[in-house]
Amino acid sequence: MLANHQNWHGLSDLKVRGPVVEYPGDLMIPVERASFPTNCPYCGSGEPLHKHGCREQVVLDLPVKQKHVSLLILRRRYKCRNCAAVFWEELSEVDRKRRMTKRLVKMIRDLLIADYTYVGIANLIGVHEKTVRNIHKDCSKGTGFKECAKGNCDAERHR
Ligand SMILES: [Zn+2]
Repeated sequence: MLANHQNWHGLSDLKVRGPVVEYPGDLMIPVERASFPTNCPYCGSGEPLHKHGCREQVVLDLPVKQKHVSLLILRRRYKCRNCAAVFWEELSEVDRKRRMTKRLVKMIRDLLIADYTYVGIANLIGVHEKTVRNIHKDCSKGTGFKECAKGNCDAERHR
């Protein structure tokens, strides 16, 4: 499907780091950040950062060919030689609050605006209906999701 070291479908800072695992309804894509942080986010030092561990994190992304997509991100931790701060690398395309890419959250918002049901969206991307419901709730709190928030868009619209 995709060779190693290529970026995953339009994500500029996540590249494929191993073979894609394909299940009947799901794709699991091992990825990692394509670039390395060059400066310490705490003191700004540009000295080369020490690697200081890593972990795998699962993040959902846009479906591909009607399959749910999970990115298995190898996320690295670094230690600054100057101020000794330890930090996880920043993933600019991942929504901090949810285990999803930002573009997937945007897609969910677009589908809500288009009056899709919670269940319909949940089935499409492979999450629990409650997750979609929570995103809708957050969006309605005036975080730039006015289309759906107008007239106190109540949840009824998406059932
Ligand atoms: Zn530092």
